[in-house]
Amino acid sequence: INVLLIGSGGREHALAWALRKSDRTGQLFIAPGNPGTARCGTNVPLDTSNQEAVLAFIEDHQIGLTVVGPEQPLVEGIADFLSANGKLVFGPSQAAARLEGSKSFAKDIMKKYGVPTGDYLVFEGHEADAARAHITQNNSWPMVLKADGLAAGKGVFIPQNLEEALWSLDALVTDDLYGKSGTRLVIEEYLTGEEVSVFAICDGKNARILMHAQDHKRIGDGDTGLNTGGMGAYAPTRLLDDAGLAAVQEKIVEPMLHGMAAEGAPYVGVLYCGLMITPDGPKVIEFNCRFGDPECQVIMPALQSDFTDLLLAACEGRLDTYVPDIDMQQWYTCLVLASGGYPGSYEKGKVITGIPTESEQVQVFHAGTKTDAEGRLVTNGGRVLNVVAKGETLQDSIRLAYDAASLISFEGLYKRTDIGAKGLAKF
Ligand code: ATP
Repeated sequence: INVLLIGSGGREHALAWALRKSDRTGQLFIAPGNPGTARCGTNVPLDTSNQEAVLAFIEDHQIGLTVVGPEQPLVEGIADFLSANGKLVFGPSQAAARLEGSKSFAKDIMKKYGVPTGDYLVFEGHEADAARAHITQNNSWPMVLKADGLAAGKGVFIPQNLEEALWSLDALVTDDLYGKSGTRLVIEEYLTGEEVSVFAICDGKNARILMHAQDHKRIGDGDTGLNTGGMGAYAPTRLLDDAGLAAVQEKIVEPMLHGMAAEGAPYVGVLYCGLMITPDGPKVIEFNCRFGDPECQVIMPALQSDFTDLLLAACEGRLDTYVPDIDMQQWYTCLVLASGGYPGSYEKGKVITGIPTESEQVQVFHAGTKTDAEGRLVTNGGRVLNVVAKGETLQDSIRLAYDAASLISFEGLYKRTDIGAKGLAKF
């Protein structure tokens, strides 16, 4: 069948690579894609926020399956629109994508269906005085303040004292920094422990955990400095053993699936569970309605099953009898090569050289790259390339990834030097 993939980042290059490998995939189109995805299929300059235009493209090109990479189109309801027009789409409905699009909604569902998460309170934009009073009274640090809606990772504050907390509150509710997101606010209990991301593929009733991975969100070594989209990942982790994964399936994934169906919003797509491994067991920090970036870049190479076939099984409600084959015997590490200055301002258009050719061990997925007027590959974003390596041990996969990354250059290239070190510390 012909497949349309929506998105343009490193995650989408990894998805396109896996879709291309599938025997079930006929023609593969990526909208808008990047120079990496162009090697897996045909990039098309579609405005993916224009649902009618996407539908017209699907009809013109006999697309049998649409796969949505990023959250924004899902939260805007692209899956509903395409399904209503009789098209098969992998990704949750607008109502189900609220698990990512509204933090208060996700918390309320977790509470209602007994899914372990931190305590929380919700305040509307006009209740800033009540929020201020709560913060002052509670007086326990750190505290977690979040904008309710999508804020590209910039809507979360973790104040360490009252002064910082009041400043964060002002930023969220009165400064209007976050536009619509700032209208509602969630104040949460601060959870301690290590973070792990668990990815489950869901068909509305059944879920299969594909993988667990650890991201490195901060820009600096040792998890210091500003938050980013993610500077690297490795998988699998040692934070969850078989019993731990079974507990995540039973206490988190299944009750959420049951709850969403009971709420009239059955969940079809990837359920990304952002967990904290606390002394009391795993608790949910957040849900996302799509694959993580860069975690997807370590999951796709580990997936042995035919990816298109797996997505079709999810769309058609057949995951009860479908057991995906994942390589859990080897280790996968992804390093993000970023533009100097990221996540702040950075320059674009720097010529990229030295990308190694794909091998059994090493792959390079493109994120912020483009081909310039002279046909050269140049930087075009904050996160530029993802170098992914497979190894017999975690140490091997880290070393292979760093060796391959050392061949690549562009002016201002920045990478963390300690991706995976958190994992090695567990051995
Ligand atoms: P992203 O877009 O990067 O996924 P987000 O804006 O959706 O982030 P969260 O994932 O909810 O926000 O929070 C961002 C980070 O803040 C988490 O990865 C975690 O490190 C920290 N964090 C959030 N909530 C808590 C909490 N309750 N306790 C401890 N740390 C937290």
